[in-house]
Amino acid sequence: MALVHVVGGGPAGSIAAISALRSGHEAVLSEEHPEAGLPRNCSGLFSKDGLATLSPFIDYRKHVVNPIRGARINFAGTDFIVRRKAPVAFVCDRAGMDKELAAKAEAEGAKIRYGERVRATFHSKNIIGADGPLSSVARHFGFPPMTRHAATLQAQIKYKAEDPHMIEMFLSGERFPGFFGWVIPHDETTAEFGVGVELPNRPAAAWNHLLRMKRITVPPNPKGFVIPLKPRSRTSMRKSGFNVLLAGDAAGQVKSTTGGGVIFGGNCAALAGRHAQSPARYEFEWRTRFGPDLVMHRAIHRFISSRSDAALSSFGRRIKKLNIDSYLSDHGHMDRPTKMLRPQLLAHMLKNIAGIA
Ligand SMILES: Cc1cc2nc3c(=O)[nH]c(=O)nc-3n(C[C@H](O)[C@H](O)[C@H](O)COP(=O)(O)OP(=O)(O)OC[C@H]3O[C@@H](n4cnc5c(N)ncnc54)[C@H](O)[C@@H]3O)c2cc1C
Repeated sequence: MALVHVVGGGPAGSIAAISALRSGHEAVLSEEHPEAGLPRNCSGLFSKDGLATLSPFIDYRKHVVNPIRGARINFAGTDFIVRRKAPVAFVCDRAGMDKELAAKAEAEGAKIRYGERVRATFHSKNIIGADGPLSSVARHFGFPPMTRHAATLQAQIKYKAEDPHMIEMFLSGERFPGFFGWVIPHDETTAEFGVGVELPNRPAAAWNHLLRMKRITVPPNPKGFVIPLKPRSRTSMRKSGFNVLLAGDAAGQVKSTTGGGVIFGGNCAALAGRHAQSPARYEFEWRTRFGPDLVMHRAIHRFISSRSDAALSSFGRRIKKLNIDSYLSDHGHMDRPTKMLRPQLLAHMLKNIAGIA
């Protein structure tokens, strides 16, 4: 039995601690804030399938705020709608989820040290850095830096959505360079508005544009945060007798298309807890299991963010002509694009190309 020091009490940290405990280790977790779940920097939108993969750690059903059936994606003026009858995703109370995960880690035996900001002193030779996108564990041990980030602004606003179970995404290189704008309804009268732009762009102009577009006249006070858009080239090492593993946003295990990091980060953190003494094994396992999907998200993100608005709009029209919206309504997967590459996609494309011709 080894002692594992987890730095950070977000979802990745608590899941890593639970997983380490279930693998027979002891765990101590440091969280700089006085409690888990604060401050809240997340839209709380998760795919139903993704949440199911975290069921060994959390029962998400207690935290559902709003079921989501689809999305209206605006390709620089061209609307593309993906809709299902049953919910495909849920807006959840993210703070509530973080609190439940931390309470579970504690109940299973983790010692949680709230209010402890870790700088250079560690409680064990086995360290899991789950301390978010600005990871001080990564900096302390000299991990390669993350090279791409989105700067975001978001706020909850009084808003009556046309369909409160559909989210909206706005893609435009001119208005939201390198990322996108979003409206995520929480209920009939409130929605989270958000924008992101890839650094070094600044998000203020994108934010003002989104508010103008949606005719929001009372200016809300948005909160800013940063999202990693690419994993580090290395996320684990053995150094000076320490086994150091990074998990979650600290490792950059995030979907570059949307910035969603809870599902992949949580799953990778479970592997980090299990392999806390084997950095190489951890690196190999998470990259084998989740690497291909994260690479595909990056490829889609690169494709979209390198297009001019005219090209994006025409791309939107072309995929509508090919009825890709109906294919995605039936076979889409929010987290794992590799699962969408089935023989049915080829059959669908051939059928529709023949239809167009
Ligand atoms: C605007 C916005 C919207 C988002 N929406 C979604 C979404 O809808 N769905 C989704 O899946 N993801 C979303 N994300 C991303 C998601 O929030 C992150 O991927 C997720 O929080 C990462 O979890 P984590 O545990 O790795 O890191 P974090 O949640 O950042 O947790 C890290 C913890 O470590 C603590 N910490 C940091 N440094 C130290 C230190 N030195 N010592 C002790 N404690 C420390 C922090 O206080 C924090 O509690 C969004 C992000 C943003 C910015």
